[in-house]
Amino acid sequence: MFTNIILKTPYYLYDLDVLCQTLSAATLSAKKYNYHIHYAIKANHNPVITDMINRFGLGADCVSGNEIVEALYRGFPANKIVYAGVGKVDDEIKLALLRDIFCFNCESIEELEVIEQVAKNNNKNAHVALRINPGIQPHTHYNITTGTEENKFGIHLSQLQQALDLCNHSPWLKFEGLHFHIGSQITSLKPFVELCKKVNNIFSDFEIQKYGGLHLNLGGGLAVDYGEPQQNMIPDFSTFFSVFAANLKVPQNMNIHFELGRSLVAQCGKLITKVLYTKKGINKTFLITDGGMTELMRPALYQAMHKIENISSKYPEEKYDIVGPICETTDVLAKDIFLPGTKRGDILAVYSCGAYAESMMLKYNMREKAKSFFLKNGKIFASNLFEKEKKCKSQISELKNY
Ligand SMILES: *Cc1c(COP(=O)(O)O)cnc(C)c1O
Repeated sequence: MFTNIILKTPYYLYDLDVLCQTLSAATLSAKKYNYHIHYAIKANHNPVITDMINRFGLGADCVSGNEIVEALYRGFPANKIVYAGVGKVDDEIKLALLRDIFCFNCESIEELEVIEQVAKNNNKNAHVALRINPGIQPHTHYNITTGTEENKFGIHLSQLQQALDLCNHSPWLKFEGLHFHIGSQITSLKPFVELCKKVNNIFSDFEIQKYGGLHLNLGGGLAVDYGEPQQNMIPDFSTFFSVFAANLKVPQNMNIHFELGRSLVAQCGKLITKVLYTKKGINKTFLITDGGMTELMRPALYQAMHKIENISSKYPEEKYDIVGPICETTDVLAKDIFLPGTKRGDILAVYSCGAYAESMMLKYNMREKAKSFFLKNGKIFASNLFEKEKKCKSQISELKNY
């Protein structure tokens, strides 16, 4: 499966042993309460990563038709695939129906009507959970908050009864459960406690228990430590799940699902980039690297902070702004950080790039696609999934012609 390699920067380096440990910790903690985990594929759809996640028996959380096709191709069983997203295209809905996925996480009344129509046209029942916007402030970055009162995601509580009625009166819609996802990189457990209380209230206010065989999906959002990734490599899944076990008051036999993305994959990945130029400004020194916002968009998108190390230098520390080569002022990897004295040609490692880095890669400036490499038992490998990849592509077009 692996072949010889040339390491050309910038590239992603994934430590499969770290991924393995993280997945073991997550699945073990979830097992204690019989919780089901779906992996949010949008965090990282690198096939080597998704293959390993699938081997741990997780389900998949998809937000597009292509993600559903990819999940199926990687071996995730259809009955473990959930499908969220505020803008599902009719063809994507049809694909999901024909592939018999576990559940649509439906985000609006109008979407519910479209799913019903597509189901009817294809003579299929649509299994739907309603994504509810619980009005919770998760105190994360504004741009990754999804569950506040006024937000494009989810159905507002004031419309829940209407959505329930729609499901009840339709022969094509099968109401399967409630879905929540309040945001990402949530560093405090308080918003999750709040979420549990909201869920408990919704269950009693709308007499949810009268519908049999429902499941509850509580989304993702568990944070990782971007400041000290080496000290806190594995997120505290055990405490995270225990918060729900302690605070949820829903029927004992109800299946409870989570959708974890970042917490499963962020710490196994690094972006490796080379310093192309050093440049003295008036008060600052800039390091211009060959990787930038096209390989790691998070700092430009939400002022995200990543730990960065110079793995080539042992000189005393100096203060730098690390910027990419892209023609945008926001193309910054880090501002005002201390690194050992750095010169042209030094190699930098940007930590916590396993989530929302490769999957957000941009082509802007006609950039070459950065490659990915893998560490296993201290050895570095290139993935040789190219042939498999091609097969996958043809399968995608095949499925699309359904
Ligand atoms: C992105 C997303 C997730 C995963 O969020 P993380 O913060 O990466 O755990 C889960 N559910 C839905 C619906 C999402 O859009």
